[in-house]
Amino acid sequence: MKAHDGMYIDGAWRPAAGPGVIEVVNPADEQVIATVPAGTVEDIDVAVRAARAALPGWAATPPAERAARLAALRDVLVARQDEIAETVTAELGSPPKLSQTVHAGVPIAVTGSYAELAATYAFEERTGNSTVLHEPVGVVGAITPWNYPLHQIVAKTAPALAAGCTVVVKPAEDTPLVARLFAEAVHEAGIPAGVFNLVTGLGPVAGQALAEHPGVDLVSFTGSTAVGRRIGAIASGMVKKVALELGGKSANVILPGADLARAVNVGVANVMSNSGQTCSAWTRMLVHHDQYDEAVELAAAAAAKYGDRIGPLVSATQRDRVRGYIAKGVAEGARLAAGGPDSPHERGYYVSPTVFADVTPGMTIAQEEIFGPVLSVLRYTDEDDALRIANGTVYGLAGAVWAADETEAVAFARRMETGQVDINGGRFNPLAPFGGYKQSGVGRELGAHGLAEYLQTKSFQF
Ligand code: NAP
Ligand code: MG
Repeated sequence: MKAHDGMYIDGAWRPAAGPGVIEVVNPADEQVIATVPAGTVEDIDVAVRAARAALPGWAATPPAERAARLAALRDVLVARQDEIAETVTAELGSPPKLSQTVHAGVPIAVTGSYAELAATYAFEERTGNSTVLHEPVGVVGAITPWNYPLHQIVAKTAPALAAGCTVVVKPAEDTPLVARLFAEAVHEAGIPAGVFNLVTGLGPVAGQALAEHPGVDLVSFTGSTAVGRRIGAIASGMVKKVALELGGKSANVILPGADLARAVNVGVANVMSNSGQTCSAWTRMLVHHDQYDEAVELAAAAAAKYGDRIGPLVSATQRDRVRGYIAKGVAEGARLAAGGPDSPHERGYYVSPTVFADVTPGMTIAQEEIFGPVLSVLRYTDEDDALRIANGTVYGLAGAVWAADETEAVAFARRMETGQVDINGGRFNPLAPFGGYKQSGVGRELGAHGLAEYLQTKSFQF
């Protein structure tokens, strides 16, 4: 057990204003592995003041120099990749391989992409008799969730720093350790004092104080729709910019003629990875009625194979929430094809990989985000029916379409109300804009579109 004191503010580790601490628990064995300070309104105030003081200098730093610092940060993340992976495994419970490739690997790719974008982005352009400057928005308050704990911090911090903004991060209370490691990496990379600040703490205390602080110009939030709605209300009341990355209930649409086994296997892997704690997971599989029974059988077999390889959920609260949804699915008449509400281990916050068949679009498990290893398989009669079901939730974050050929898949994907669609198993692209239609959010992250969120324009007329 390690008791950490201090939060990274203005280039140094400083003691917290209050005595409160947060216990960090390893969800695989339920042991307390560390404590971190629970930051208060006062800590947030000190951090925001540091970020404000650092803003003019960082905003005036030439983009090439900001790019060089981001490249240095990327190199530190590479050098500390094993440590990052071990830390995420300890506080989130994700299997070591996933921690290496995704939890540590993706932030390296994203930081690298912003090192490149900072160097090449057109921060000035001409239109008619005007010159348009793309200037940093100012001080960014970033509030992040635990599911991809380092990625969520990097997806906000790297573009903000590339843009010339300064940042205060409030990470999720369940996963503050990799956030601390990131602050060390920022320091090692030679990013000037005050440009990046970290305050650990509870959402309703430190998170809310950050959103409400008059010294914050832009609030970037990733998390639940319920909290996002509150953050949006606070920000609009103060006329701040706001970016919200919220929940999802994405559809994996398998059209007749697709490679059924591949579409089902990739679809199950997509849902079970990270124990289902992925906002963009394709938690609804849509299959034509002629292929329905075969698809359910394939999905159940694929889920059963996941049995031992799946990690726990992040906390007892999340485990209980997911088990509650599984019970509700059964109560509303869906059929368990794999898994179920019983815990597969005595210790740790595990839930069995679960597949529901005979799910109809109106059921709770087909509408609400479960955020666990639970897949619902729904049947459709024709393409219009499939589209109605795919678009029939309040969310629109991601999705997938499988068809005999790309043209057919793309034609369907164009009609989907969602921010990202993978065509016939397309790969993750760290440069593609990520974000939601409808209640999945406001704004985009990653790539050039993610950078633009942290810029505002000023035009000179000649
Ligand atoms: P959450 O409860 O909304 O928490 C997200 C962050 O907000 C945490 O840092 C949390 O602090 C903080 N917070 C909580 N209450 C707050 C308040 N009143 N004011 C300010 N901040 C507050 O979400 P979660 O349970 O951690 O994460 C799961 C949800 O996030 C899912 O719905 C998922 O879909 C969504 N998500 C979306 C995306 C996306 O990109 N669209 C990505 C990942 C996750 P504490 O940790 O102390 O609660
Ligand atoms: Mg929470």
